[in-house]
Amino acid sequence: MTVATEWVEDHFVAGDVVLDFANTVYRRWPRMGSDLFTNAESLSSWLERAGLLPHSNGVLPPAGEETLEEARALRATLWLVFDAQRERRSIPPDAFSALLDVARRLGEHVTVDADGDMTARDPQSAIGALALGAISLVLDPPQQGVRACDACGWFFVDSSRGRRRRWCSMKTCGNQAKVDRYRAARA
Ligand SMILES: [Zn+2]
Repeated sequence: MTVATEWVEDHFVAGDVVLDFANTVYRRWPRMGSDLFTNAESLSSWLERAGLLPHSNGVLPPAGEETLEEARALRATLWLVFDAQRERRSIPPDAFSALLDVARRLGEHVTVDADGDMTARDPQSAIGALALGAISLVLDPPQQGVRACDACGWFFVDSSRGRRRRWCSMKTCGNQAKVDRYRAARA
C-alpha cells in the first residue's frame, strides 16, 4: 500500500496554486524525482489544502484512480506550457488545447467568488478549475514571469524585490546551494 503524502507549507511556495500543482514531484531536474501524488488520497488532500475543495474535517470526497491519472496528465501539460512560457517560446498548441479540454469539464460544480477564487464540489471539477487557472496564467502572465528553480525545476513567480530569486525555497534548494558553495570553497 502506498502512503499518502503529508502536505506542508514547503509544498506551496510557488506563489500561484497552478504552479504549486505543477510542483507535485520531488524534483523535475536534473533527474525526475518521485511523484508526490502517491495515490488518489494524496490528490484529494492536496486539493483541499490548496483551497480548491472545501474543508472536509477529514472526510474528503474520494478522487478515483481515473481522476488521479487526469491530474498527472494535466501536470505534464503544465510543464510543457510553463517551460515554454519561461523560455519565451510560444505555448505548444496541443498543450493549450489540452488545457481547454480539461477546463471544459467544470460544469456547475465550481463556485467562483467575487475575488475570482474557485471552490469545487469534487476532485474532478477541482482539476478543471486548475486547468482554467492555468489558462488565465498563460493569457495574463505575471509581470515578473514564471521561473523555475535552478536546482530542482519547481516553478515559481518571482515577486522578490530585486527579482533575483533562483530557488523554489531558501529553506530547501537555496540552503543546499549555500552548503555546496561552502564545501566547494573549502575543498
Ligand atoms: Zn528547488
